This record gives sequence, C-alpha cells and structure tokens, in this order.
Amino acid sequence: MNKNTILVAGGGGFIGGHLVGDLIQKGHTVRSVDAKPLSDWYQTHPEAENLKDDLMGKEACEKAVEGCDLVYNLACDMGGMGFIESNKCLCMLSVLINTHLLMACKKVGCKEYFYSSSACVYAADKQTHPDITALKESDAYPAMPEDGYGWEKLFGERMCRHFNEDFQVDVRIARFHNVYGTHGTFEGGREKAPAAICRKIAMAKLSGKHQIEVWGDGEQTRSFTYIDDCLTGMDKLLASDMRNPINLGSSEMVTINQMIDYVEAIAGIKVKRKHDLSAPQGVRGRNSDNKLIQKTLGWAPAVSLREGLHKTYQWIYDQLKSRY
Ligand code: NAD
Repeated sequence: MNKNTILVAGGGGFIGGHLVGDLIQKGHTVRSVDAKPLSDWYQTHPEAENLKDDLMGKEACEKAVEGCDLVYNLACDMGGMGFIESNKCLCMLSVLINTHLLMACKKVGCKEYFYSSSACVYAADKQTHPDITALKESDAYPAMPEDGYGWEKLFGERMCRHFNEDFQVDVRIARFHNVYGTHGTFEGGREKAPAAICRKIAMAKLSGKHQIEVWGDGEQTRSFTYIDDCLTGMDKLLASDMRNPINLGSSEMVTINQMIDYVEAIAGIKVKRKHDLSAPQGVRGRNSDNKLIQKTLGWAPAVSLREGLHKTYQWIYDQLKSRY
C-alpha cells in the first residue's frame, strides 16, 4: 500500500485501535474518528489525528473522509449476543454510518473503501446444529440473517457492492467471525464470549469464588479469530482485487464449554459452571469456511485459539488485578 491519508472510522474501538497502530507502524498517515470521548477509546495512538465525531451524520462523514485515499469503516453500534439481541434498532441505525461514508467517498473522490461485515449475515436455517457445516460465502442467501445487526450488515454489503458497480468506489468486504484479543471490551454488556469467559474466570481466580455463569448449555459452537490474524487478513484483502464479501475467520470450531476448559487451563483453576438456559445464546452452531480466502488470498489464521486466549486472558486478568 502506498497511501497518503487513511481514515479509520471507529478507531476508538477494539479492531479500529489495533488497526490504527498497525497502519502507523507501516508508515501511513492516519485519521482516526470515533463517537466516544477520547478517554474511552481502547487505544489512542498519538501519531494519528484522533477525532471525536458521530459518523451517523452526512457532514461529519464528509469532514472525516476529506483528503483520504482509503477508508476503513469499523464504526458500528454493536456488541456480543447480550447486546445485539436487545438493541436491534441501535444496531440497524449503523446503516447510516456506512451509507454516509460511502456517499462521502463518492463526493470527495476517495476511491478505496473497506467494510467490516460479519458472520451474522448468514442465514439462520444453516446454523441450527452444533456440528454445523462451515459457512461458505454463498450461504448468506436466501437471506435470513441475525435480526437487526445481521440485516444491517447484509444491507451494508450490498450498498458497498452498488457503490462499486455504479460509482466505481473500490470496495473490500470482510465477513469477520468473532474477533477477540487484547484492548477490547470485556465487561459492561457489549463483550463477546471469549472476553466474557476470560473475565469470569479471572474474577473467579482473584476472588477465590470458583463458580461462573455460562449462557446456555455451553454446547453451542463457534470459531474465533485472534486480532493479529484479523489484521493480516485485512491487509491481504486490501492488496487483492476481491470485491465480493469474503469470510475472514478461523475454522477452529469449539463449543463454549471447550473454550472454558482452555481458559481454566490457562488460569490454572477449575470453576463450577452454572448454566443459564434463558440467557441469549445466538445460533446453535457457526464456523467459517475458509476455502475462498485460502485460494484467493493465500491467507489462513496463524494463531491457535489456545494461544490467542492465553494473551487475551492475561491482559484481562491484569486489568482486573490492577483494580483489586
Ligand atoms: P467496537 O465496538 O469495539 O468498535 C466500534 C467502534 O465504533 C466503537 O468504538 C464505537 O464507539 C464506534 N462507533 C459507534 N457508532 C459510531 C458513530 N455513530 N460514529 C463514530 N463511531 C461510532 O467493535 P469492534 O469489535 O472493533 O468491531 C469493528 C467492526 O467489525 C464493526 O463494524 C463490527 O460490526 C465488525 N465486526 C466485529 C466482530 C468482532 O468479533 N469484534 C465480528 C464481526 C464484525
């Protein structure tokens, strides 16, 4: 990549914060914009131009995109299952961010655009069993995605596609599958399963009360992508001419109970699991089919779930310990 200025929309968030650091390290000039006050950003890189603005507005998007050659849209009102199942309207309103950013690109002549889509675009009837066949890109249609959040992502993907076809905005669309790692949310209601489990087990260790609550029976399956792998995948996608949505995820599928086993081993404790069957659980099974990304980009994740959880647990444990 040889860029002048890159906009990272949602730069105060988990993936955005890591991406800004990575781009700066590669020598790019970065403008990072997020709706949250700077004090709430997970990472703030002083080398970047860091701005607080609400990118749902058309003018804010035009201001943010001005002078940029490439936009990464990572801004979205989202969270784990606990958040998206009870905030469908807020999730869908993120459609304004993507739409206005694309319109701004067309207006100011910014040619390249990256959209962070999600595995939540996949049709519900293909995810009803824990031993699910991994989801390939075409499984998003006929459409019946996750209510709220998934529809917003599927609509966003199509908006990108039509800005590419009609206005020659050069788009890339990654369907992220459960990205996790350090410097992200691990409490407060928006956290996803890996961070929530690391937090619960770290708290059990710190408090000496070796019991945790688990959402569902724990036999639901998922695959998880470590943040470093996500960044290398994004980089390869940007360097490619792939314009269609592509899975960017791991195919190392585990049950939630297995993931708890891993974190227990990392923490060096055993916990009693109290299963809450009425808690939000999402689909019964989900895994990423990586044939397309392996074939077209030569990308495969390099970090095992155990390794990624080790780093994530340690970071969350340290955050919690410093408050104890
Ligand atoms: P995140 O919540 O940590 O980051 C999103 C950021 O967007 C937040 O900092 C938030 O303040 C910001 N934002 C929200 N509304 C905004 C607005 N109106 N204007 C400006 N900023 C706004 O989430 P993340 O995990 O970093 O995810 C980044 C992107 O990747 C999102 O589009 C998300 O849907 C997608 N994604 C993430 C995962 C995952 O597992 N982390 C999986 C699938 C897709």
